[in-house]
Amino acid sequence: MTSWHAEYAWLGDRFVPDVVIEADNSVFTAVTPSETEPPAGAIRLPGLTLPGLANAHSHAFHRALRGRTQAGRGSFWTWREQMYQVADRLTPETYLRLARATYAEMALAGITCVGEFHYLHHGAGGQPYGNPNAMADALFEAARQAGIRITLLDTLYLSGGVERALEGPQLRFGDGSAEAWADRVDAIKPPAHGRLGCAIHSVRAVPLGSMAPVVSWSDHRAAPLHVHLSEQRAENEACLARYRRTPAQLLDQAGALGPRTTVVHATHLADADVTRLGGARVFVGMCPTTERDLADGIGPARALADRGATLTLGTDSHAMIDMFEEARAVELNERLRTQVRGHWSAAELLGAATAAGHASLGWPDAGVIAAGAQADLVTLDLSSTRLAGAGRETLAESVVFSATTADVRHVVTAGRDVVRDGRHLLVPDVAGELNRVIGEVLAG
Ligand SMILES: [Zn+2]
Repeated sequence: MTSWHAEYAWLGDRFVPDVVIEADNSVFTAVTPSETEPPAGAIRLPGLTLPGLANAHSHAFHRALRGRTQAGRGSFWTWREQMYQVADRLTPETYLRLARATYAEMALAGITCVGEFHYLHHGAGGQPYGNPNAMADALFEAARQAGIRITLLDTLYLSGGVERALEGPQLRFGDGSAEAWADRVDAIKPPAHGRLGCAIHSVRAVPLGSMAPVVSWSDHRAAPLHVHLSEQRAENEACLARYRRTPAQLLDQAGALGPRTTVVHATHLADADVTRLGGARVFVGMCPTTERDLADGIGPARALADRGATLTLGTDSHAMIDMFEEARAVELNERLRTQVRGHWSAAELLGAATAAGHASLGWPDAGVIAAGAQADLVTLDLSSTRLAGAGRETLAESVVFSATTADVRHVVTAGRDVVRDGRHLLVPDVAGELNRVIGEVLAG
């Protein structure tokens, strides 16, 4: 039994003062607001305490590219070539170390659960490892060592573009067929801190005829199904040319749109597709720091939510890892586009970063501070220079529009301290580990 006394705790719609939070091992057992007399032995949490943050879309190995793809002109497609060079070099051993350090950076940023959209499955030339899930196992182990939960979204990736064979480093992504993908994935046994979901990489990488096995795999297990959707106009054009349908129409035709589905990016959508996705009650995974970094565009997040979709957030390529920046960027992008302020409330954006993100990753029991939920907590320092002076009535707005990862002081995952006073307790030198493994991988 553990108890905490939070100066302020986010209880879903507002920050409430003096909240006593109790947990038995990894699950909250009681949450009592306005308790000025905390129980003996309660751990004091000064500042603002949030539920754990969910990073709903990650490719851990992209972390090695940070800062190295920013010189000169280019597009998503030129960036992708640089990304393939990193993919080409990783082994299960180096990927474990790179993902461990990347997930430790996430923990320091208040992220207690990651959705790893995983497609780097095989060895050079597409040769399976002796353990065909060696890479998946490395990612589960990396999350365990970094003290965060993981949903491994094992990804089907069959073609290098619409009607183009895989080539070069892409060969490592391919299982040959959807049936072979399912056989491999069925052998994965997720550990206690992990859950298993699936992904269709995109309509570029999976032909219409190969989508059904992934959809039925997800249906049989009630597991999350994620897919990149319309990140680039070229994807829409290739899809229209081949199928006479937009990517969203094609996914709908394959039965891939529903309340367990997350469409990632959803940047370039026809209005009818906004209605289609909203009506299907999908999650929409926006990754605004990546979308702006790659010059993708601004997706219609507000319109999607107004028509029934649920917003989630991800750091995707890890150009930066800061969920507060993802959250405010959704609102600030809309402001730039419309020249009007106030599309999203701070409460809605915090919901996207917490409860909605967890639900999209198959953890409907996490991302809230409530009895019965997973015992994950993130405490921000209200006396930091960024948050100092915050108004008591506008604490949520202060967090969403001015906090950064530097304000994260304590992180608890499954009832266990992972970050204390801004220090990772399981990975003592996160920056040093990132330095070393990125240097090694790029020296290749
Ligand atoms: Zn992605």
